[in-house]
Parts: sequence; C-alpha cells; structure tokens
Amino acid sequence: MDKDLWGAMQDLSVPVIRMVQEAASIWSQPEFIIMLLIIFYTGIFGLIIGSFLNVCIYRIPAGRNVAKGHSMCMDCGHNLGVLDLVPVFSWLFLRGKCRYCGSPIASRYAKIEGLTGLVFISMALLRSDWIFMPWYEFSTAHVVNMIKFLLLLVLGAVVIVTTMVQFDHGKGLKGAVLTVMGIGVLRFALLFFEQALAEKVLISSAMGVSMSGLAVLISVFFTGDTVAESAKAHRLSALRLRGFQSYFLPQRYAVRLSDALVLALGFVLGFPVALPVAVGYVLVRAIFIIDKSIRYIGLFTAAVTWLAFAVLSRSVF
Ligand SMILES: [Zn+2]
Repeated sequence: MDKDLWGAMQDLSVPVIRMVQEAASIWSQPEFIIMLLIIFYTGIFGLIIGSFLNVCIYRIPAGRNVAKGHSMCMDCGHNLGVLDLVPVFSWLFLRGKCRYCGSPIASRYAKIEGLTGLVFISMALLRSDWIFMPWYEFSTAHVVNMIKFLLLLVLGAVVIVTTMVQFDHGKGLKGAVLTVMGIGVLRFALLFFEQALAEKVLISSAMGVSMSGLAVLISVFFTGDTVAESAKAHRLSALRLRGFQSYFLPQRYAVRLSDALVLALGFVLGFPVALPVAVGYVLVRAIFIIDKSIRYIGLFTAAVTWLAFAVLSRSVF
C-alpha cells in the first residue's frame, strides 16, 4: 500500500478510535449501567401500573372497587390467573385470545399497559438526574427529587385514567382533577426543603394557572357550544358571548370537568408548559363543538401536555 495513503488513513482513524474509546468508557461506567437498569425497571413498573390503570378505567365509572374482585374474561367469565395477567406479554403470547374460551381480547388493555410503560420511561429519561443517586452523594435533595419523580408518575397515571374514562363515557373524573391539584400542593410542600427554588416554582405555577384560567374563560365566554347547535351557529355564537349562559347547566358537567383538568394541569405544571396547552385548548374549544368532541378533547389535552412537558424547560417539576 502507498505509504502516504496509509499515513492519511491512520490520521483519519485516530479521532474515530478516540470517540469509540470515549463512548465505551461511558457505557462501561457503573453509573451508566445503573441508570439504564433504573430506566428499565421504571418501564416494567409502568407496565404493571398500566395493568392496574386498566382496572381503574373499567371499574371507577361503574362505581366498583378497584382493589377487590378478580379480573375475568368478558366472554366466558373465567377468572384470570397470573399467567393471563402479565402486562402486554400475556396478550402477545395468547395472540389476543382468551386461554379458556378462545374469544378475542381487545388489544386496548395491552396498549394502555404499553403506553403507561412508555410514559414512565419518558419521565425517567427526562428526569434521570432526579432518580439517579450515587450512594456516596446521598442527601436530602435526592429524597426530595425521588418524591418529585414519584409525583410525576402519579400525575401521568391519573391523566391516563381520566382521559380514557372521558373517551369511553364522554365525562372525565372529578377525583382525577382533585388528585392533580393535590399533587401540586404536595410539590409545594417539598419546597420547604428546596427554598432556593421556591420563588421560581411558585411564580411558574401562578403563571401557569393564570394562562390556563384565561384559556378556560375565553372558551366559556366566546364559544356558544350548546348541545343541539349546528356547526355554523356555533361559530356565529362565538361572536355573541353566548357560552356563559349555558355553561352552568347540569348537562355541561363534562365540559366543566374538562376545563377544570386544564386549570389543574396549569397549576401543577406551571409556565412554560401551560402555555401551549392553554393555546391549544382555546383553539380546539373554539373550532369544535365541545359537547360532540368531548371524548377526544381529553386525549388532545393529555397529548399536548405530555409533549410540552417533554420539550419545554423545567418549571414546577
Ligand atoms: Zn374467555
């Protein structure tokens, strides 16, 4: 081989080899491997919680106890065993069929489990600095961060449940709105241990709740979305401040719940996360007749909230 060419190749390969060596040294560090394990187990935990969320989504609207009673096949009523209830994998290995009667099982249960797993993993990736704690640096701050991370997981789980209940029944859960607000209050309580952050967090939350509040107010006043209205009348009524008249009717309870969830999310996530949520919510409330689109508006709110949380800078959480 030409000597000059060989020399040139060697020169080129030096930075590549150095990059590979550096990458290998990061990957082989115990911290990195522990981090990967934590993220992996957070995902497994998400699958298991997702399985419980399926029970909640099915039983809470029916007024049934989520902690008592066996899961059973919807068709043959056979009690399901441990092997039938492994999240996602049971459904895959049984090829979507009941082991006892062979009737198809909706893929939705596995999807909710998978979704919960992914949401939990995304939280672990986005807040990996909170959950990774080297033993030699253990401090109060780590415990506080761990609690904040668990609060985020509860927030994700609650939003999944109320969103799916709203999708199924056209009405979310009041308990979910209260839980989201409770998560905000607990987060504020933790500021006792994080006094350097207190001002930033409280201002962020106040701005968040102001923005979502403004979004709800605009939606209430400027969208005349009564139940029987045509799309054209709906758009015209937006100019007539008609929304307020019908807003407090009993049949608009589901709309008020949807608005309340947006308010609670603004409170718990703060600025800047609340900004795209508020803008998106106003637009959707203005364009669609909410009484007809109420099933989907929860999915929209949840998706925009998750995206905004993933992309925008840290505020309350
Ligand atoms: Zn069956």
